[in-house]
Amino acid sequence: MKMDKATIADVASKLKFRTQAFINGKFVDAVSGRTFPTEKPANGQALAQIAECDEKDVNLAVQSARETFEKGLWSQMSPADRKHVLLNFADLIEKNTMELAVLDALEAGKPITDCITIDVPETVDCIRWHAEAVDKLYDQISPTGPDNLGLIVREPIGVVGAVIPWNFPALMAAWKLGPALATGNSVVLKPAEQTSLSALRLAELAVEAGLPDGILNVVPGFGETAGQALGRHTAVDAVTFTGSTEVGRMFLKYSAESNLKRIVLECGGKSPQIVMADVANLDSVAEHAVNAIFWNMGENCSAGSRLIVHKKVKDALLERIVKLSKQWTVGDPLDPATKIGSMIEKAHMEKVLSYIEAGKAEDANLVLGGNRVLADSGGYFVEPTIFDNVDNKMKIAQEEIFGPVLATIAFDDEEQAIALANNTTYGLAASLYTDNVNVAHRLARAIKAGTVSVNCYSEGDMTTPFGGFKQSGFGGRDNAVHAHDQYTEIKTIWMQFS
Ligand code: NAD
Repeated sequence: MKMDKATIADVASKLKFRTQAFINGKFVDAVSGRTFPTEKPANGQALAQIAECDEKDVNLAVQSARETFEKGLWSQMSPADRKHVLLNFADLIEKNTMELAVLDALEAGKPITDCITIDVPETVDCIRWHAEAVDKLYDQISPTGPDNLGLIVREPIGVVGAVIPWNFPALMAAWKLGPALATGNSVVLKPAEQTSLSALRLAELAVEAGLPDGILNVVPGFGETAGQALGRHTAVDAVTFTGSTEVGRMFLKYSAESNLKRIVLECGGKSPQIVMADVANLDSVAEHAVNAIFWNMGENCSAGSRLIVHKKVKDALLERIVKLSKQWTVGDPLDPATKIGSMIEKAHMEKVLSYIEAGKAEDANLVLGGNRVLADSGGYFVEPTIFDNVDNKMKIAQEEIFGPVLATIAFDDEEQAIALANNTTYGLAASLYTDNVNVAHRLARAIKAGTVSVNCYSEGDMTTPFGGFKQSGFGGRDNAVHAHDQYTEIKTIWMQFS
């Protein structure tokens, strides 16, 4: 695939934005007729006007999802047939990689190279993986005596509301759509208000792939209106949410106050990267550590934002990390050389900068960056920023910044490293670096996080479940067959023979 500047500019200039809601297989205006602007954070200019859905539109989308679910067009289709439709869907996404990549780069300010080589291929992989899995999974028969038959079967849960964030717009949609559709549900997807465009295009591609109308609906709009209406709707059977812990908590409330719909939350993190003194290859650690914090501008739930490093190797490692970080060029998201694009919006950039000020005020030692850059562009760019001499009690060590800001915390022994790593309200991910397999195993077990990567920074892949301990998650996992649990009910069928 050609990924040069001219090709990307050409794709961008020919884009046709889908800006209406997608309900029952058709693009429609919001009932109110209202729209809201979506912005290009790389220059602060409006990109398009998007249909602003509220409760009325959510009601229509849920009605369409409910009716199609009950008709069984998709929910009763054989898993093998659903697989074929979803494989077509994955193929169409792959065919339209450049378009989807440019949409996400434009709206989210993400580096285009990441969108082309990571976000869209992983979106394809996710849909394909769940499609391929679904006609290979068996239900169970319970160990009864000869007069009975106990079937333990999985059924689709029904209508699924999916509420997602802006940091990986297409990919987060796929993490929900792949398993929810594969298991036979109807879905109402609410993208983040900052990034609606790729979700709307994905819905159009799904129908082109053969998904019956009404199975996938997209209601762009704001959280307090469209998101809340979905959370409180009594015909929605489950909400799968990825976003902040604060908003995740609200969905538990919406559910409690409505129909006790199932709620699955994938929330924030403050993930540690623990580096033991025995590591020989500090160059490799530095490379992973830089990627862990600066990939996707640090706007990543599993960003390795706390570098917890043994005193003996701290200075040598930090020197390497600072050197490598300087190579992470900040720039236009549509430039293939850019490694760090813009923050998602002005308010978020200001929040990130205020954390940097808080770090300075608490006497952490700023060793790199710390500023807004490229302000003349009108965009919201923050340079890679590194603090040393951070105390784990400081604000920059405790709160999720969701930006390119690394906090370095030193330790003396293993026990202290574990205590520091676990001293957070979050528990999404962790990385640890050691050349001693015994230490690796001990620490991997001791760290309270949903994913622990050893001698690398990684979230695993489609074959491994992803989700958080403590206030990073609730009620289930994304990815792998474990994600199917979110979207299915277990039914016991008990038969007696005479
Ligand atoms: P957010 O919580 O502000 O918004 C997420 C979604 O919730 C959006 O669609 C938004 O419109 C909606 N929403 C907001 N307020 C709402 C309300 N009152 N009622 C109903 N819906 C509402 O999060 P964000 O700023 O879009 O994303 C950043 C957060 O997402 C970070 O905390 C990050 O860690 C988290 N995240 C987690 C994962 C994961 O897999 N654990 C992945 C990506 C992002």
